[in-house]
Amino acid sequence: MKIFDPHVHMTARTTDDYERMYAAGVRVVVEPAFWLGQPRTNVGSFLDYFDGLLGWEPYRAAQYGIRHHCALALNPKEANDPRCTGVLGELPRYLLKDSVVAVGELGYDSMTPEEDHAFEVQLALADEHGLPVLVHTPHRDKAAGTRRTLDVVKGMDPGRVLVDHLNELTLGMVADAGCWMGFSVYPDTKMDTDRMVAILKEYGTERMIVNSAADWGRSDPLKTREVGEAMLAAGFTSADVERVLWDNPVAFYGQSGRLSLEEIAPVAPGTTHVVPGVPLGPGAPGAGYAGNTILRGAR
Ligand SMILES: [Zn+2]
Repeated sequence: MKIFDPHVHMTARTTDDYERMYAAGVRVVVEPAFWLGQPRTNVGSFLDYFDGLLGWEPYRAAQYGIRHHCALALNPKEANDPRCTGVLGELPRYLLKDSVVAVGELGYDSMTPEEDHAFEVQLALADEHGLPVLVHTPHRDKAAGTRRTLDVVKGMDPGRVLVDHLNELTLGMVADAGCWMGFSVYPDTKMDTDRMVAILKEYGTERMIVNSAADWGRSDPLKTREVGEAMLAAGFTSADVERVLWDNPVAFYGQSGRLSLEEIAPVAPGTTHVVPGVPLGPGAPGAGYAGNTILRGAR
């Protein structure tokens, strides 16, 4: 099973996760910029984070055989914090970078005027940069939040919009709008494996995107694989599984023109490697990212 996890926050995950993901068939991930848990206090905090998503994290993922891309944005929650909103002025130069395949995650948290502003500004930036958008829908008042989200993105080509964290209540309106439908399969909230399979049975596999959205909370980066197995057990073909877990995210993020899908071999334990197309920082070539490797001393 070849898997593309289209929404996973790897900076919050461990090397064990990378190893387990590779063993489960995950070969490509997209990491959207989000909230750290700890509130940020200044714009520079975003810039270091963005640089990490563009540099260190793709390097780290490549050591485990996984191709890492990112989506960048000011997240909905911190769009309400005046210490953070200056990052909107920094985004344009970041959206030019090679491994940025979307603007995201943006959207609503509490549906405030500040969130409206960040949402509008970032949709315009996506348009200017020819990038698709990954839209987060709020966890509270989800139906109203999703309806309002669809109003805001109405002017855009729906084929360039992925509306994420959907459930049975919000899926229908997104399907009708013609946007891509994202589902975050979590151990105990949002969406689970059985409900996900039931949704795919009812609505089919077109424009359907399944992700683990694994982050610093209770979550599991192997949920994509679990959905694939549950689909097969429910009578879907392996082509159906491949469509949902590979072809669909490739088609959506491929619209950026920046997706790179060549396989990377994981490194042998105790070694490090340089992968073509994966950035190295300002360190000597072969010495890891900016002189830092995932190794811990000599053996
Ligand atoms: Zn997320």
